[in-house]
Amino acid sequence: METTLLRGGTLIDAASPPRAADVLVQAGEVRQVAAAGEGEVPPGARVLDVTGLLVMPGLVDIQVHFREPGGTEAEDIASGAEGAARGGVTAVVMMPNTSPAIDDPAVVAEVLAIGRSAPVEVHTAASITVGRQGERLVDVRALHAAGVRVFTDDGNAVMDAGIMRAALEATTQLPGMVVSQHAEDASLVAGGVVNEGLVARSLGVGGRPREAEEVIVARDVALARLTGGRYHVLHLSTALALDHVRRARAEGAAVTCEVTPQHLVLTEGDVARLGTSGKMNPPLRTAADVDALRRGLADGTVDAIATDHAPHAPEAKAASLADAPPGMLGVETAAAVVWTHLVRPGLLSPARAVEVLSTRPAAIAGLWRHGGPVAPGRPANLCVLDPEETWVVDPDALASRSRNTPFAGDRLTGRPVLTVVDGRVVMSRLG
Ligand SMILES: [Zn+2]
Repeated sequence: METTLLRGGTLIDAASPPRAADVLVQAGEVRQVAAAGEGEVPPGARVLDVTGLLVMPGLVDIQVHFREPGGTEAEDIASGAEGAARGGVTAVVMMPNTSPAIDDPAVVAEVLAIGRSAPVEVHTAASITVGRQGERLVDVRALHAAGVRVFTDDGNAVMDAGIMRAALEATTQLPGMVVSQHAEDASLVAGGVVNEGLVARSLGVGGRPREAEEVIVARDVALARLTGGRYHVLHLSTALALDHVRRARAEGAAVTCEVTPQHLVLTEGDVARLGTSGKMNPPLRTAADVDALRRGLADGTVDAIATDHAPHAPEAKAASLADAPPGMLGVETAAAVVWTHLVRPGLLSPARAVEVLSTRPAAIAGLWRHGGPVAPGRPANLCVLDPEETWVVDPDALASRSRNTPFAGDRLTGRPVLTVVDGRVVMSRLG
């Protein structure tokens, strides 16, 4: 068992204000948190000087596509988890739009077994409907017994309100269960490529209207109120959808939402420059939406940042904007993008960043071993981030098997330098 003392860093978690501290990690746990310079050094301990760096609970990414089973030319659990470790992430929740879909306990067991040799903790969501076909509710009890907490047909919205009602009712019976929705009405986005409007017209491609998201979120929060069930909006992208969440929550509904880094820093206006790396579902929206999402992040309406890490093989993304598959890489760059574009300009405090990148997503997905606080007796799932390191995103240097990042060539400031999972150092760039 490794014993590591992180000496002199600034500790940021949800429990107390940021403070200089020594953090001792032993036998998989945080053993001691002491004032900086006063931490004990047990015999055989490795001492890492992290002065000037931020020590925080490891990031928790509750929306990743690791493409296994069925799409491993683009990514597999090992390569996806390696990227996650490099990104300071200690736990992920995989989406079930694999081939076959993750819709029964046998597939769940297979995926979790592969995940056990990954450097970070791998969890999986299951689909809401059999085969993600939208027609028949999965056996939620059996999947819950197999360890699944998050249910979603991600990639597709569940269009049948009766099935959504039944799934939400199940969340009131099964502890920790949450129903997550990719909120785009399929009948409104069919054939759409980018946000509907001027940009879609100028690029000569079909649009995906914001209303496709807004009608699904409005319907679903109504169903959450009706059932008393737990509902989560994946990658929310419009101002009005956020208002629906805000109001539902004020009325006491158990509704949460996440946004992606890309929807917080890019707009539809970037798609012409980015090409197929800027194509994703839901699409990049307008500057007004970005402003609304940023306000929601600061005021607490947005619970979490998740990446929707969606690798696609270079050949697939080499197709035309209309034909290329949607999605982009995210796990390895999320912390740096958030630090560069939100924390450093003062739009988000470091403490709030830790909350949305770690504490709240861990709570939403029921991952109690993650998300902090960094305190004695807690599992040692930690990230150390250098807030001053400036680096340039090189797609060829990422752990992913794919290259589709819209941040290629961008200069970012802030980067995870150490990731600790269950007390083990799984990534270190410390000298
Ligand atoms: Zn999605």
